[in-house]
Amino acid sequence: MAKILDGKAAAAEVRSEVAAQVAKLKERGIPLRLDVILAGEDPASMTYVASKQRDAAEVGIESRIHRFPADVPQGELAALVEHLNEDLAVSGFFIQLPLPNGLDAMALISRIEPAKDVDGLSPESAGRLAVGFPSLLPSTPHGIIRLLERNGIELAGREAVVIGRSNLVGKPLSQLLLREDATVTLCHSRTRDLPEVARRADILVVAAGRREMVGAGYVKEGAVVVDVGIHRREGGGLVGDVRFGEVEPVAAWISPVPGGVGPMTRAMLLYNAVQAAREPL
Ligand code: NAD
Repeated sequence: MAKILDGKAAAAEVRSEVAAQVAKLKERGIPLRLDVILAGEDPASMTYVASKQRDAAEVGIESRIHRFPADVPQGELAALVEHLNEDLAVSGFFIQLPLPNGLDAMALISRIEPAKDVDGLSPESAGRLAVGFPSLLPSTPHGIIRLLERNGIELAGREAVVIGRSNLVGKPLSQLLLREDATVTLCHSRTRDLPEVARRADILVVAAGRREMVGAGYVKEGAVVVDVGIHRREGGGLVGDVRFGEVEPVAAWISPVPGGVGPMTRAMLLYNAVQAAREPL
């Protein structure tokens, strides 16, 4: 029976560390504000933004939402990005994704100052991570590393297999695992014999965005399995990319959905908000 990688508990720890740092920053009069750019009316995006704002308020971080209709011109958002880069009251900001059709998200993200890029998604932040310069790290992969560390899971010298190569999760996670001296294999939709490759893993991270794709046939006995996927179940509740019931008896550790990676992602955004306020890069 696998032990549970408890994201709720680990996220609560991160939040209390962040709250303590927020208090110190306020004592020193250092500005701390996390802003978000939200375009369109996508209900999921609106819910995510509201919960991020609530999370921030809980640890004492002020946040402001800059709202636009779905047909906002690209130039107007670009001008706001420039303004937020310059505004000394704003310590960090992000663009809620996905943007409505017709807007080029990467062109906007590329303009965000690395020191304020709390999502860590700009090409400059990604490049800094790749070459080992200090940078703000994308929340999901950073949260995964923190969750593994908190549970005493050794990474150095071990085989890590990541399924999914997105800029949001798979690619930056592979960089972070490398930084921790793991031997990393990054898989994707064109990988051949995926179950066989996955079975090499001491640490298997699944971020394919395919509901319950990974069963016991992908998992070596005693592996650590991290499930990044989030899918709504008909009739309520969430499931991941991993068939929990099937994999749990084989794995040594497993992250549940919900209650695994999701809460860590939320907590690490707050961590980044404080980092952005504290130190220039
Ligand atoms: P994405 O769609 O951008 O990328 C998916 C990646 O998986 C691609 O690189 C693709 O090549 C690979 N892939 C797809 N099907 C595959 C298959 N059959 N075999 C092997 N590889 C395959 O997705 P993303 O943004 O990286 O998100 C992945 C999942 O994680 C989604 O379910 C998303 O909702 C979830 N997610 C969760 C959190 C969280 O906080 N828990 C955060 C971000 C994303």
